[in-house]
Amino acid sequence: MGVKSVSFINDFSKIPKEYRAEVAQEYPELKGHEEHDYTLVHNGWFDAALWKLLRQKVLDCKNKIDVWYEARASHLIQDPVSKVIKGVQIEKLGQKINVLARRGVILTTGGFENNKEMIQNYLAAPKLAPLGTIYNKGDGISMAQEVGAKMWHMYNYESLGLLHGLSFDTPEGERSKLVLSWPELNHGSVLMVVDDGKRYFNEAGPNRHGHIFDHGIWRVLRSHEKPYIIFDQKQYETIEAGQIPYDKFNEKLIKADTLEELAKRTGVDANGLKEQVEMFNRFVENGHDDQFGLDIKSMAKFAEDGPFYAIKMAYNVLNTQGGPERNTKAEILDVNNNPIPHLYAAGELGGINAKQYQGGGNLAECLIFGKIAGEQAANVTDEVTDKASDKYNGINELADGDKVKDIAR
Ligand SMILES: Cc1cc2nc3c(=O)[nH]c(=O)nc-3n(C[C@H](O)[C@H](O)[C@H](O)COP(=O)(O)OP(=O)(O)OC[C@H]3O[C@@H](n4cnc5c(N)ncnc54)[C@H](O)[C@@H]3O)c2cc1C
Repeated sequence: MGVKSVSFINDFSKIPKEYRAEVAQEYPELKGHEEHDYTLVHNGWFDAALWKLLRQKVLDCKNKIDVWYEARASHLIQDPVSKVIKGVQIEKLGQKINVLARRGVILTTGGFENNKEMIQNYLAAPKLAPLGTIYNKGDGISMAQEVGAKMWHMYNYESLGLLHGLSFDTPEGERSKLVLSWPELNHGSVLMVVDDGKRYFNEAGPNRHGHIFDHGIWRVLRSHEKPYIIFDQKQYETIEAGQIPYDKFNEKLIKADTLEELAKRTGVDANGLKEQVEMFNRFVENGHDDQFGLDIKSMAKFAEDGPFYAIKMAYNVLNTQGGPERNTKAEILDVNNNPIPHLYAAGELGGINAKQYQGGGNLAECLIFGKIAGEQAANVTDEVTDKASDKYNGINELADGDKVKDIAR
């Protein structure tokens, strides 16, 4: 790409060297973990540097690439006999346009983090709050299914931030806010409960992109409908005295004089909540959290009397992994493990990560499989020559802006 790469482990200056391995090598028990590194395009992060570079590369070839905005691919066009993918149907400006693909189609439509039905079916979650795009609706999955593709890794996804990947509850259709850490929400007279009024995990324990330790295995969280952080007045004052990284915090707080009343207003089980707070206080007295092993120095007894507070959380999602299975040549496989001719995939649609995600692996596979898929398609020799595709004007809306009013020629 014409840049000198920066090794996160050896050269990155924004975090002290002793912490870098901890960040990059998320599964240190895996063989070969010490070789895992992030390759950065400069000595910085969270500044979209890679995106800006890639965008510029597309602009540099603007006369050779069409870029269409607000153009939704809806179907693949497949030859019914040879099974070759001949093109794709795209909806733009109210029209359905059949675009010919002489050498191949590469599906890169991302995940299904905004498709409620798929989230419920594949991830068994009533709802997930997206941290990234709100437009990925799993279209690539439906398109690949329609031409007989085999699916993989449907159950795996990554999340990030506070309390093993939770965000503050956000209305459906909105992006949720990433809060990486907020010590006052997991140290003190504060705990997280779910629908039965009970705690679910070690609030301050380690997590790996939303995977928590479950009897020897790191798994994605099982999600609930009513995850709430609960705390007492003393904790509220500690929170208020500190830094509040969420501007709607006070607006979203539920306050009640008693735990019973708090349970009623949140919908969590009242007996469960009362028992849980009593248990938590007993752990503090005895000097050990028998439930989840939270560090006793992180725990403080809840006051006998109210007021008590609750704030609703939501399980968040960075990105999903599920989608059509691909082989090392980025070819999408059918249900008999044969490549579907002229069909490829890259990125988070059918990502290669089955379970344990070493940080940085998502973007690495976007770049690596993107390159492989591009090269494979470019080298196809049995070109499709189908006269039935629609004629349209060459358009690069990235370069020219979205002034296009008509696409058909
Ligand atoms: C906050 C955040 C931080 C992250 N940090 C890291 C990190 O540090 N390291 C790392 O490796 N990964 C990270 N990830 C994950 C990584 O960003 C994603 O895995 C990666 O961006 C996926 O790229 P993609 O091109 O496959 O999908 P996307 O970037 O989601 O792009 C898919 C595109 O397809 C479009 N699309 C969807 N459906 C259609 C359709 N029917 N027709 C046409 N277009 C369609 C979408 O609008 C979107 O533009 C992070 C993710 C988030 C949200």
